[in-house]
Amino acid sequence: MVCKGICHKYRAVWISQTLRYASGHKRCLGCDLYLEWDGLHCPCCGKKLRCKPRTGKSKQMFVEQKMGLQKIQ
Ligand SMILES: [Zn+2]
Ligand SMILES: [Zn+2]
Repeated sequence: MVCKGICHKYRAVWISQTLRYASGHKRCLGCDLYLEWDGLHCPCCGKKLRCKPRTGKSKQMFVEQKMGLQKIQ
């Protein structure tokens, strides 16, 4: 359950702290990295990925941005 460096292949490009969750980026606490990865677990260390913001305020923004993104699509 340690970082093997595989995660760097799936490394997500920086957008903004609040936008990144809405665009599907997930945070791996094991590798301390944001990933563009479809699974629930890190392909590298196997830890569960966080795919939602933690705080209430950015959670609200997350929902709004997600709705906004769906409208664009
Ligand atoms: Zn890793
Ligand atoms: Zn990881």
